Amino acid sequence: AVEIRDLHKRFGHLEVLKGISLTARPGDVVAVIGGSGSGKSTMLRCINMLETPSAGDIAIHGETYAMRPTRDGGLEPADRRQLQRIRAQLGMVFQNFNLWPHRTVLGNVIEVPVQVLGISRDEAVARARQVLDRVGLAEKEDAYPAHMSGGQQQRCAIARVLAVEPLAMLFDEPTSALDPELVGEVLNVIRDLAAEKRTMILVTHEMSFARDVASHVVYLKDGRIEEQGPPEQIFGDPRSPHLQQFIRSIA
Ligand code: ATP
Ligand code: MG
Repeated sequence: AVEIRDLHKRFGHLEVLKGISLTARPGDVVAVIGGSGSGKSTMLRCINMLETPSAGDIAIHGETYAMRPTRDGGLEPADRRQLQRIRAQLGMVFQNFNLWPHRTVLGNVIEVPVQVLGISRDEAVARARQVLDRVGLAEKEDAYPAHMSGGQQQRCAIARVLAVEPLAMLFDEPTSALDPELVGEVLNVIRDLAAEKRTMILVTHEMSFARDVASHVVYLKDGRIEEQGPPEQIFGDPRSPHLQQFIRSIA
């Protein structure tokens, strides 16, 4: 599970997250929706400590990040090895793919298993070929990112995450940088993963997709969870006027 308790995040004087509590249990697909600047990416980045929370606790698989106070009144990770261990259980897929440009598809997928997890090259390659097959890139293992479509690059990024067999996958608007005709191939891969009951937290603007795959939907507004519930309720019977307006604005 991914458990977030009373998460706050400030950038200087700007308080971006104002006390978020959220749990994704094993097999949950949590969709996070909300307007630009509401804090969706910041929340996701706090889960793997790409951003350090100003206050609050985050636990992955029952293990809470050890944090210590900084001089400016914030927090920082207190235990490097724990940080690495927890991070190794999380996979993040970014809007802009973030592939290593000078490595091939195969090179991208085996990098972390070989360099961080200490898996032998042969084993990592065998595993990489399986996950590349799953995302439909079996024929592309020698290609470089620049020579692939955005949809192929994003599927490679998903394969790279799958190769570490993460406990939970974090997606930050995985299709919003794609040309419209490439969105479907990436959503199909994510849909398959959701059907396998993988734990996911997915920030998305694809409302019909969220409605289909999410077990739980969270609506963020100005750094707070304004409304949450099952997709039928959030999309079919939203209570908050802000959420009603938000859904209308992107429908
Ligand atoms: P979008 O839908 O546009 O991606 P979001 O909900 O993901 O928006 P965040 O990226 O989490 O929003 O940003 C929330 C707020 O925090 C914004 O006002 C943003 O300008 C601010 N912010 C984010 N990162 C930083 C940073 N590193 N330094 C200062 N302010 C930041
Ligand atoms: Mg964002």
